[in-house]
Amino acid sequence: MKPADRRAGYWNRERETMSAGARERYQAGWLGALLEHAWRHAPGVRRRLEQAGLSPKNFRSTDDLARLPVIKKSAMPDLQKADPPFGGFCTVPLAKIRKIFVSPGPIFEPMGPEVSAFHAETALFAGGFRPGDIVINTFAYALTPAAHELDEALNLIGCAVVPTGVGQTEIQVSVAKTVGATGYVGTPSFLMTILAKAREMGVGRLPIQVAQVGAEPFTESMRRELADQHGIMARQGFGTADLGIVAYECAEASGMHLVEEAITQVCDPTSGEPLPHGQIGELVATVNNRTYPMIRFGTGDLTIVTDEPCPCGRTSARMLGWRGRADEVTKVRGLFIHPRQVDEIVARVKGVGRSQVVVGREGHNDTLTLRVELGAGADTHAVAAALEAAIRDVMKLRGIVAIVAAATIPENAKKISDERKWD
Ligand SMILES: [Zn+2]
Repeated sequence: MKPADRRAGYWNRERETMSAGARERYQAGWLGALLEHAWRHAPGVRRRLEQAGLSPKNFRSTDDLARLPVIKKSAMPDLQKADPPFGGFCTVPLAKIRKIFVSPGPIFEPMGPEVSAFHAETALFAGGFRPGDIVINTFAYALTPAAHELDEALNLIGCAVVPTGVGQTEIQVSVAKTVGATGYVGTPSFLMTILAKAREMGVGRLPIQVAQVGAEPFTESMRRELADQHGIMARQGFGTADLGIVAYECAEASGMHLVEEAITQVCDPTSGEPLPHGQIGELVATVNNRTYPMIRFGTGDLTIVTDEPCPCGRTSARMLGWRGRADEVTKVRGLFIHPRQVDEIVARVKGVGRSQVVVGREGHNDTLTLRVELGAGADTHAVAAALEAAIRDVMKLRGIVAIVAAATIPENAKKISDERKWD
């Protein structure tokens, strides 16, 4: 068997390749059981349902979740302060908790008695981690959950974990070399730092073959460098401290598959209404975690989901990357636009300097103008046409381009300036 084949395949083939109908039945099944369980044992969940005039019997399909208001991550510190430590969302008594994590906010998250509540093993296996891998886990072991969740999932797969934690790059290098670490877990930038340090220390090539990265943006150029220069297959996942892993990349590395243990909706960040696939919105998830059932939890993160089939054979929809924070969106002609989209548009066209989108109002219609400064010698007409095409492509909106003189747009100007007056 070639090395690549050894790292192909599924953690749970049946679950990861089920039909859309089977997935809906599977998720509606665990959702019903989870709501019954939470209704009885988590007073915070019960309060939310009762306030919305609902009980578990109102949820026949996963679509019924839309009847419940989104719980915003930003509301968690206050909810928990009112009912410490977990806001009434925890279903088991404190004596049965294995670990209490503390995330910035502060927000407290419990790790209950059951294993596999964070669904990270599916992601790690899809990313090529296999029994016998020795893995340095460089996420922080203090306070926050990521390191512990991945640690547990690696053990479930049959990997040995070296809990190296954050920092101490020289020690990371010599440990990886000595134990023959074949896997890495942590941020992509720290992996780059470790590889650079290994070169500097002259220890030769590290044996790392697979890496699961997260917690910060992972660019395609980093991925290529890791593959081409170091022989490392690096895949990323998306999750939050509250939810565990929600999505992960397969070998195709083209979007992140949504885990079957999370019901994920992309929603209007203001109303909480689910949006059709293909539109940008806030990631709202409900996770099958018996200890800490987050029901319609609004992450505050923007994304787009596609249900185009993936060549890997997994049938779940895929999250097309992280598109910024929901509190930075502006709604134009019914569609959300985000500062990162402005960067994406400008990056597609050569010769553009500073840029800013101005949203205005003409009669009853929103207007969208991209103001740009051009470098010397740029072909004004060609650049404007290319930018207008990029606006249509990225924002799905029509906009006009206004070329302004150099140094018109302040260096730290907001990427989107909303100049509409509502009176
Ligand atoms: Zn795939």
